[in-house]
Amino acid sequence: MNETVLPYDMVIIGSGAGGGTVAKELSPLCARGAKIALLEWGGFFKKEQNTRDEIGMAEKYYFDQGGFQTTSQDMTLAFARSVGGTTSVYTGTSLTMPEEVLNRWNVPGLTMNDLKPRFEKYIRENNVHLHPPEEINENNFLFVEGCRKLGWHVEQFPVNTRACRGLGTCNLGCAVHAKQGTAAVQIPTAQKNGVEVIPFCRVERMEGNDVIAQIIPPQFGQDPSSLKPGSYRFRADQIILSAGVIHSPTLLFRSGLGDRLPALGRYFTCQPALMLAGEHPRPIQNSEGHPKSFYCDEFYHSQHFLLETCMYFPFTFAKSLSGFGEELDDLMNHFHHLQMILVLVMDEAESHNRVRIDRKGNPLVDYRFSQRSKQAFVSAMKASARILFSAGCRRVHAPASDRFLIHREEEAQIDELISLKYFKLGKIAISAAHLMGGCRMGEDPRTSVTDSWGRVHGQKNLYVADASLFPAACEINPYLTIMALADRVAEGVRLSS
Ligand SMILES: Cc1cc2nc3c(=O)[nH]c(=O)nc-3n(C[C@H](O)[C@H](O)[C@H](O)COP(=O)(O)OP(=O)(O)OC[C@H]3O[C@@H](n4cnc5c(N)ncnc54)[C@H](O)[C@@H]3O)c2cc1C
Repeated sequence: MNETVLPYDMVIIGSGAGGGTVAKELSPLCARGAKIALLEWGGFFKKEQNTRDEIGMAEKYYFDQGGFQTTSQDMTLAFARSVGGTTSVYTGTSLTMPEEVLNRWNVPGLTMNDLKPRFEKYIRENNVHLHPPEEINENNFLFVEGCRKLGWHVEQFPVNTRACRGLGTCNLGCAVHAKQGTAAVQIPTAQKNGVEVIPFCRVERMEGNDVIAQIIPPQFGQDPSSLKPGSYRFRADQIILSAGVIHSPTLLFRSGLGDRLPALGRYFTCQPALMLAGEHPRPIQNSEGHPKSFYCDEFYHSQHFLLETCMYFPFTFAKSLSGFGEELDDLMNHFHHLQMILVLVMDEAESHNRVRIDRKGNPLVDYRFSQRSKQAFVSAMKASARILFSAGCRRVHAPASDRFLIHREEEAQIDELISLKYFKLGKIAISAAHLMGGCRMGEDPRTSVTDSWGRVHGQKNLYVADASLFPAACEINPYLTIMALADRVAEGVRLSS
């Protein structure tokens, strides 16, 4: 096959939280003559292309429309393809990882002293702030009310919006570009400084210093790539792989590095999630306004879960309920009465949970729920049901219950009605959006894939800079931690170039 060879000093693969950050941090080198390319499979969505149409936008942004299934088919994973990666569809909640979790990661040199200034940089750059009360909707305030009545600790999420209009469709791409993802902040700076951003560029594999890629025709009315469709070989002194938790290990496997890196793809974690809904006797303001303003960490240490406010769109919500027919219809008809809570379980990093590839080189994810995670889900559902009733709901839908709806009069029986025996994997809609691991950092090449600067063991010029670096879950919403690690990787690349 004819391949056009293009020489570069540095090539970055993937433009999400990791890749977009690396591109910006390396971009000052362009002034000294460095040639840097940022290759991205997806295209750039202009504001007016973010139409807020649930089904259409899910198809345009997400791999497998947001429903990539694990091999056991009891969980779906959401991750996106676009300039900006999954930051184009994230909610923008901006937390820095707890120091106790970083200490448990136990990666030599990776300390809070090292990461803190990096966190602070992106908190400033991305306009992280607390939304004022007048911008917070009732769905969120009712969560606070429910938690406080129960005496449970609740915190407000800092978010990274600018001129947010409260459209509520953050996860379908913001129609006013209010979220400060990498496509809004870091990538424009990188471009201004001279980094070439090449959309619709699907990388197939790496061969030594070469990145083998296909330029594909543009989709969805987006601007095409600057390069003509066809096969390309980007030749680079340094390659930084930021294709995300599913595709970074996939590309390393496809490049034949699986045999040399026994930990490749392993220790995948994802903070698996499910949602509960409670119905109020009256309509509440739920779908307008930023969807996620508060979280409850009361059970974080003792029972390994977090509860967050959430508000999903009708299709996503309906497919997340464990029921059908009249009951489902009835609840959907009360959509504007609904308060929603997202349960996030803090899963442990286990070697058997992993990304691997099939015979054609496509990614597969094996994931087994531990007993601790199952128990955490059940405890979290009980806690969420209590919050919803305390906030005034008259009926609550909890996926692992013996009935579709628990009525307020049954509140005292929550412990019997929601139980492990009703927690049936495959029948409950569990999804994950916080994918982590697969190219974990560490010192030992038997249990890690990169060193603490993101350099792949045994590979002089190959780095990883995305959420796949996490040795274990970061136990909060991860994007700021990914950016901080990517900043550190960029520093290592600069020092060695
Ligand atoms: C709905 C949703 C809401 C979220 N909300 C929050 C939130 O509020 N706060 C938070 O902290 N986190 C949130 N997250 C998680 C956060 O967005 C991700 O953890 C983060 O974006 C991951 O960064 P990354 O760089 O690892 O990968 P990504 O951002 O996924 O970027 C990877 C990029 O690589 C590209 N790519 C993959 N393969 C190739 C290839 N072969 N060739 C070229 N390019 C390739 C992809 O197209 C993609 O653009 C959310 C996630 C989802 C799905």
